[in-house]
Amino acid sequence: MSEKPTGVSANKSKKEFTVTWNDGHTSVYPFGLLRAACPCASCRGGHENMKSEPDADIFTRQITEDNSTTRLSNIVATGSYALTIVWEDGHDYGIFNWHYLRALCPCAECRKERKKPPPEWFRRGGREERGEEEKNFLPRAKQSASRF
Ligand SMILES: [Zn+2]
Ligand SMILES: [Zn+2]
Repeated sequence: MSEKPTGVSANKSKKEFTVTWNDGHTSVYPFGLLRAACPCASCRGGHENMKSEPDADIFTRQITEDNSTTRLSNIVATGSYALTIVWEDGHDYGIFNWHYLRALCPCAECRKERKKPPPEWFRRGGREERGEEEKNFLPRAKQSASRF
């Protein structure tokens, strides 16, 4: 099954962007994480660095707290495959396709699937996950490859 959102919302006071998916999953992204993971060529450091998934170290990177670069100004649907996120500093090059967004979900369950622990800032606010559980994890059937 390919990833497709059934709902998208942004809470500016909590600085959280929420996506609900067609498989029932809910992803909550802090604005700072979205900006840090901006998939545009200039944020990625050139077209050759553009990948279909966020950088592996995205969850361990320091997240910029609150300034115009991490204040979400608008969300624009881009075709039926992506969202363009517009930031208060005017940056609007980031086209987040569904596959990329889902790969960026910081929840413990998704991090476990990717064999990476949830980020520390997430663990502090969220549920504690024990490392041993990772061993019991069986990867889900490979999701259909991203076409983007
Ligand atoms: Zn960017
Ligand atoms: Zn998730």
